Amino acid sequence: RAKADGRGLARGFEPGMDLALRERWAMQQDLATAISRNEMFLHWMPQANTETGEIVGFEALLRWKHPERGVVSPAQFIPAAEQNASIVPIGEWVLRAACREAARWPKACKVAVNLSPVQFQHGDIVALVHEILLETGLSPSRLEVEITEGVLLDDHAAALNTLRRFKALGVQIALDDFGTGYSSLSYLQSFPFDRLKIDASFIKALATSPQAQAIVRSVLALGESLSLPITAEGVETQEQRAFLAELRCEEIQGYLVGRPSPLVSFQSPFEKPQRLLA
Ligand code: C2E
Ligand code: MG
Ligand code: MG
Ligand code: MG
Repeated sequence: RAKADGRGLARGFEPGMDLALRERWAMQQDLATAISRNEMFLHWMPQANTETGEIVGFEALLRWKHPERGVVSPAQFIPAAEQNASIVPIGEWVLRAACREAARWPKACKVAVNLSPVQFQHGDIVALVHEILLETGLSPSRLEVEITEGVLLDDHAAALNTLRRFKALGVQIALDDFGTGYSSLSYLQSFPFDRLKIDASFIKALATSPQAQAIVRSVLALGESLSLPITAEGVETQEQRAFLAELRCEEIQGYLVGRPSPLVSFQSPFEKPQRLLA
């Protein structure tokens, strides 16, 4: 599979290189051809209104079916794809595939797509999104781009400009994995987010950690006073949902609502079937 590409070889595989590096290099070679070999696909993870259980959107989660390794998790290959910038064409593929599918759903709910910081550094990500929206006919208001703090770190002015252009397009912006970074609070003041996603680690710890409870309470209070809707990630139990509902957390996502799946289902896991209501 490894091509006799002089440049790649010089920067990549060398005798004596340690195993982890060699592994990464091999993975990066395979990532470069993954799209053209049709190895990438999407899973969908439902997002629900905390109170009513209504399905309000789906997050697109990338999957890679490697010919020898089988399905590789994004936690494993996204960092490698970011390092050699193959996340740029892969991320474009995700955007196009997600918007194309969402445009055909029977319900006009939101579609959330993760963007890598590297996509902000190569080319014009806003122009690309605009082009894909026109091409797929998806209404901009249905697209929510999920960014992490990494996007905001290097160049504040450039990031602000990009996010403002997304807003001008009518696209929604969510700050993903909130609470796990460094100076998230100052970002809330500077950047035009439409939503915060509280990181799953805080939700996981709710049952056992008074600290996690206090943090989740505070984030929800902050969201409320800033008029910033909050999504809780990693909700797995009814107890977690009840706690979040009590504190008026708008949306939840996690195994309780539904696992990532190749198919979307608009059937809420909480709403009782209509016929049982009478
Ligand atoms: P994320 O955006 O924070 O996505 C949520 C991750 O948490 C997903 O893992 C999801 O399957 C998992 N998760 C959600 N709820 C639960 C739960 O209740 N229990 C448990 N145990 N896990 C839950 P996944 O699909 O492995 O994705 C990992 C990360 O990879 C994502 O974190 C995101 O940062 C990144 N990623 C996924 N797709 C893309 C993509 O298309 N582009 C980029 N740049 N990154 C992506
Ligand atoms: Mg996400
Ligand atoms: Mg997250
Ligand atoms: Mg994440």
